[in-house]
Amino acid sequence: MMSGTKLRFRQIHLDFHTSPDIEGVASEFDPELFAKTLEEARVNSVTCFARCHHGLIYYDSVLHPERVHPHLVRRNLLQEQIDACHRRGIRVPIYITVQWDHYSAMEHPEWLSVSEDGAILAGPEEIIQKPFNPGFYHVLCLNSPYRDFLFAHTGEVLERFHPVDGLFFDILFPVSCACNHCKRAMLERGMNPHLDADRMKFSQMTINEFKREMSAFVRSRNPEATIFYNRGHIGTPHREVKDAYSHFELESLPSGHWGYLHFPATVRYARRLGLDCLAQTGKFHTMWGDFHSFKNKAALEFETFNMLALGAKCMIGDQLEPKGKLSQPVYDLIGAVYKEVERKEPWCIDADPIVEIGVFTPEEFMGAGGGELPEALRGAVRMLQESAHQFDVIDSASDLSKYRVVILPDNIPVDESFAGKLEAYAKTGGGIIASFESGMNAEKTEYRLPGVEIRLLAEQTKDIYGELVRGKHYRRFDYADYVLPSGEIGKGLPETEHVMYSKGVEVTAGAGTEVLAKTVKPYFNRTYRQFCSHRQAPSSGEFGSDAILRGGNTIFFAHPVFSQYNRNAPRWCKQLVNNALEMLLGKAMITHDGPSTLLVTLNRQHHEKRSVLHLLHYIPERRSVDIDIIEDVIPLYNVSFSIEARGAVRRVACVPDGAELPFEVRDGRVNFSVPKISGHQMVVIE
Ligand SMILES: [Zn+2]
Repeated sequence: MMSGTKLRFRQIHLDFHTSPDIEGVASEFDPELFAKTLEEARVNSVTCFARCHHGLIYYDSVLHPERVHPHLVRRNLLQEQIDACHRRGIRVPIYITVQWDHYSAMEHPEWLSVSEDGAILAGPEEIIQKPFNPGFYHVLCLNSPYRDFLFAHTGEVLERFHPVDGLFFDILFPVSCACNHCKRAMLERGMNPHLDADRMKFSQMTINEFKREMSAFVRSRNPEATIFYNRGHIGTPHREVKDAYSHFELESLPSGHWGYLHFPATVRYARRLGLDCLAQTGKFHTMWGDFHSFKNKAALEFETFNMLALGAKCMIGDQLEPKGKLSQPVYDLIGAVYKEVERKEPWCIDADPIVEIGVFTPEEFMGAGGGELPEALRGAVRMLQESAHQFDVIDSASDLSKYRVVILPDNIPVDESFAGKLEAYAKTGGGIIASFESGMNAEKTEYRLPGVEIRLLAEQTKDIYGELVRGKHYRRFDYADYVLPSGEIGKGLPETEHVMYSKGVEVTAGAGTEVLAKTVKPYFNRTYRQFCSHRQAPSSGEFGSDAILRGGNTIFFAHPVFSQYNRNAPRWCKQLVNNALEMLLGKAMITHDGPSTLLVTLNRQHHEKRSVLHLLHYIPERRSVDIDIIEDVIPLYNVSFSIEARGAVRRVACVPDGAELPFEVRDGRVNFSVPKISGHQMVVIE
């Protein structure tokens, strides 16, 4: 495993998907100006193109001259880009497209992935590439002879540009391919090509095998090259194939379909897989290919500084215009942000996130198709971020020993070996929060959580068609019920009914298990026969099943509180979870008196023997139908922090500017106030 690779902090991914119908390609390319513009914008790595999604090549290929862009004026554009950048110390990893290649799709329709209906597969957004859809989204099959082409082409790139700094292989995602090549290969392995589930499984196997084979091929020719395979998401399927990678790049443009939650949820998982992480955003107002658009500066600041705060290096996506000249206004914008990144870097090198909570991701069990994260994970990440908790996202293979509490949000099934792992963790004093169906066996007949005995009621509420209603969202909350919080679990909430919009699992506490809160029934469920007002019926005042249980160091919520928070964010769901965390953790590692829009992370630079607190205050607003917008920086003043001290504290200061902050250490915690947080502020604790 090449875990030693250190990535650079200020990178550009320079798309260059250029139509064959555009003439004069690279006619205004000036190698010196190109590299100078990047250097002045403080860029120290730029990913440039060997072959694009149009299937066209941007160097003078000997092996595939027919694929060289027909109007490429500088026949060795890529070589000139590399040479000019290298002269200024800028790395140039090389981009190679994989599953999308329009030239191959047109010339070799027999290489295309086919659906079970015989249509051409696209993806992941389009599913089917219809004959009159514009775009290069036909998916090429890696079990077809296209695979041989890819190895030959990559071999030429490795030889021609020896030694290449790195390779970025784009677009590798599983599709339900029913082409003849896949059918034959599946039958040989005893799989069933007529079953969608088998086809998807085989496609993922094909992709993993391709990655392993390609990485071995690259490393045999150049062991130093960085290698990354992109599918727009890094998640639990990457664990088993991570040795094929030198590092991870987290494609997650918040103004694209990913939104502002995908990156933090993903990096908190990816950063624990043992490889360096690079996070991508774009200079585009929206998405890749959005020419002549600009991201608001405050948004670009937030996105890059948040990468630093979460332990990743920065990459900004751009697309080079056909004539080959970088846009000066774009690099003025990027340069303004990257100059700041450069100043902040000394406090971000080898920064190890300090965490106390691990959140299991349902992705391991439910998948995350196209990067769409499970609702419960989204809700958990939101809640914990808003409460300044320090946490990782984990899976059942993670080492639990570094967490004081682990959370199983809503949809984490527990088989026997996982149950054993949780049991061992609980024995060491670890706390567990689980909700809804988390902790159940696969058949959903019993719970397997340590310390707490949860019994399923024989009768679980069903709709008029006999379907279970629990966990389902109904527009008018037809099966909602209420929770009555009190005592420690109800801290900060009035002792009265609080609605739970989705029905929970109907349970009762076994012997030795404490009931922290009970449900209160509505007068009736909302059906065509009985209903009241516009939504759920009000409280009947009559207690129903148990809502929140505690046994040992395990606290269980019967309702899907995390998915609920993702859907409409009731503050009481967050408060209940925070109260449960406090009951298990005591005082959280970090507390502050700022607003819930303040993002707080703490990293440790072990070599420097110092901790670095990152404070971010930018507020994404849903200003448009499609995307969230950040336009302004709204400063905060005089926010007080209380942080667990790690050893003696001799200095607290704002960095990079170095303003010293008065502090006091009491009961093992360091307390101080930050006079002003304008966007992003780092505070060093030495
Ligand atoms: Zn196929």
